[in-house]
Amino acid sequence: GKGAAMVTAVALRLAAQIAERKHILDTLRLNREQLMQVKNLISEDMVRGLSKQGRNRASIKMLPTFVGSTPDGSEHGDFLALDLGGSSFRVLLVRVRCGKTHVEMHHKNYSIPQEIMQGTGKELFSHIVDCIANFLESMGMRGASLPLGFTFSFPCHQSKLDEGILLKWTKGFKASDCEGHDVVTLLKDAVRCRGEFDLSFVAVVNDTVGTMMTCGYEDPQCEVGLIVGTGTNTCYMEEMRNIEMVADDDGRMCVNLEWGAFGENGELDDFLTTFDRSVDASSSNPGKQRYEKMISGMYLGEIVRHVLMEFTARGLLFRGKVSERLKTWGIFETKFLSQIESDRLAMRQIRCILQHLGLTSSTCDDSVLVKEVCGVVSRRAAQLCGAGLAAVVDKIRQNRNLQQLTVTVGVDGTLYKMHPHFAGVMQETLQDLAPQCKVTFHKSEDGSGKGAALITAVACRIRSNALI
Ligand code: BGC
Ligand code: MG
Repeated sequence: GKGAAMVTAVALRLAAQIAERKHILDTLRLNREQLMQVKNLISEDMVRGLSKQGRNRASIKMLPTFVGSTPDGSEHGDFLALDLGGSSFRVLLVRVRCGKTHVEMHHKNYSIPQEIMQGTGKELFSHIVDCIANFLESMGMRGASLPLGFTFSFPCHQSKLDEGILLKWTKGFKASDCEGHDVVTLLKDAVRCRGEFDLSFVAVVNDTVGTMMTCGYEDPQCEVGLIVGTGTNTCYMEEMRNIEMVADDDGRMCVNLEWGAFGENGELDDFLTTFDRSVDASSSNPGKQRYEKMISGMYLGEIVRHVLMEFTARGLLFRGKVSERLKTWGIFETKFLSQIESDRLAMRQIRCILQHLGLTSSTCDDSVLVKEVCGVVSRRAAQLCGAGLAAVVDKIRQNRNLQQLTVTVGVDGTLYKMHPHFAGVMQETLQDLAPQCKVTFHKSEDGSGKGAALITAVACRIRSNALI
């Protein structure tokens, strides 16, 4: 009778809703063939980026870093390091002692206020110099003149170690008058302006390179550096003969891929969803860093938020009410994604997190759906990252004509370290797409700052040897 008809209607509506959800989430799912395609496209772009003729057309810039030699244990001295461009800005003092494998480190975190991040370059660098001065003071080293390793985690053109011309800001940084300028000059000008201390030498180091170097100090098989944090990027040891931008042909040099930019020439267009397009459009650098925007911590929460808005607008979530809160940029930080996806969490606790985020009208079903959305978005990120890494390790293997390559990847970044499933999914994908490579991951603690100091130490040793 009537009752049965109603039950059928409800069941039909439910089935329709489930189909609608699945249809939307499927746009965010990648199959093996698509991932293999991403790997191959990245491989091709890497080769293009290394060549003189192709590099202008490449999205992946394959930047020479002028880091070749690794520490040999004879480095000695006190070094400053700066770490700018990750989740925190810090100043470090690294004491390297001859013949010792352990370095002594001291550091202090500083904040970079929003208005400085988006003010002028002069203000930014003068703030940085204030922080160094404050740090030296707190270490009882006021006025000291030391060499400094500058971990500057943005794409830079380098023609030597102590130079870095900023190609473009990423990750929401915006300070004016920096793009196209040498950050060493900007830093030294600000130091001179303050007139309180001096920097005897400044090495510019990408965070991926610093991370690789730190791991390489302990594990000589570490020839790749990976960051999956606020942004994402990789570096690896490439044969000099393949780096057409550098005249030398002997030995190896570390190349900074700047893979976050992959997709800027449309390479990822087939895989982009409406959510990716919205996140890109509302970012500070539309059209740029397309691969990074599908992978790194600064954007994953935003993708999730856009999916949730769509579900809500279709009446599938939050009782169909798109709240002001849900419309707010940046409410889903990496740490919330990591919490929501933790398998130890009951649905009730997820509901608590949503409430904490100000998404109060949630039901129990909502929690289930939110968790599913987070899972799909982070899984895709980890798979894409694994596909890229597969291209990198296979390049090293082919360079050396090996059937089988054993290699270590030094890795850092908040997303990689905090997310419950990211590392696992990434490694699974990597194994599947580069079966001839045996890859070990080595998590680094404070790798980028320490690595920058080690690189500076090596540079200073070589320079002082050259004087002899
Ligand atoms: C930057 C890279 C950096 C990566 C990780 C990207 O946005 O362009 O230089 O290595 O973030 O911090
Ligand atoms: Mg960092």
